[in-house]
Amino acid sequence: MPEPRSGDRPAPAAQKVDFPPLQNGVDYLDSVADQLRFGQPSPRNLKYAVLHLQAAAEVLLKARLVQEHWSLVFKDPGSAKRDRFEAGDFDSCTTTGAIGRLRDIAGVTIGDKPTKSLAILAKWRNRLQHYGLTAPVPAVEVTAAQVLDFLVAFVHDELLPTLPWPEAAAAADDLESVGMKVRGITSYMATRLKRLGEELKDVADRTVRCPVCEEWALVLGGHAIAMDCRFCHTTWPDAVQALEQYHNVYLANGNIQECPECTQDTLLVEAVGTAAAPEASHSVCFCCGTDFAVTARCDDCHNTFIPNPIDDHGLCGNCLNGAVDRF
Ligand SMILES: [Zn+2]
Ligand SMILES: [Zn+2]
Ligand SMILES: [Zn+2]
Repeated sequence: MPEPRSGDRPAPAAQKVDFPPLQNGVDYLDSVADQLRFGQPSPRNLKYAVLHLQAAAEVLLKARLVQEHWSLVFKDPGSAKRDRFEAGDFDSCTTTGAIGRLRDIAGVTIGDKPTKSLAILAKWRNRLQHYGLTAPVPAVEVTAAQVLDFLVAFVHDELLPTLPWPEAAAAADDLESVGMKVRGITSYMATRLKRLGEELKDVADRTVRCPVCEEWALVLGGHAIAMDCRFCHTTWPDAVQALEQYHNVYLANGNIQECPECTQDTLLVEAVGTAAAPEASHSVCFCCGTDFAVTARCDDCHNTFIPNPIDDHGLCGNCLNGAVDRF
């Protein structure tokens, strides 16, 4: 065999990087599953769950990107250099960027829910490094379990099939043991959810989907000041902020107006499903929880609105204010 000349190309990077990142990523997943496994994880368990999960997500998503093309893990693929890649000396894309490229370029299906959970996770990891973990324990637990569940399936569907046999067999064994732990965690989550469903039976008509954990666990009305999700315990200082996040996450197209019942600007018109009627588009106030059945059409802008039974001018709030301003 001839001596390699200096300046010869090294072996293609794809062959070099396939297995170690996968093994590394699965090892992180195993650690996360251990942190979350027992009933109520401590804040310390959750801290390491967040750190290791974020590390696993980065390693595993990028391993799949590299299979597509090594330059795709660069922050700016246009200026990617092969030697920098091989030396591991470059600014790489973010987790969110990696997900976008996997979807758009590699054609990998990644649902909106895991995408959102991964984004939340990345935010927590950054905050954790600067301020410590400030999110409520159950919210971290729920999100971490969702991401863990997603990543195990991702490795199984996207990475294992590309490995040569001996490595694939070894990785499949490791993954199977992580999968068993994950099933334990998710069945515990399911039990909690079932119990909560029982507890919230009587308020199902004013319980909406939480914009953080996406469970039907955000009970409207009856809040002295702050409101919180009964499943993940994310807390909002008031109904306005809870509604704002709900509106952002679910892209509800309904208008927000003043509530005739409690006078807060927290009534979302014809856009809210409740635990009692998930597919419905009710008009519900996020502050007092009132579900308004009667709607009207504004004489001026023709938008649907909820009329004030005592003081109905046939105009929605916007048009009414406009009319008042003109005089
Ligand atoms: Zn929640
Ligand atoms: Zn109200
Ligand atoms: Zn109007």
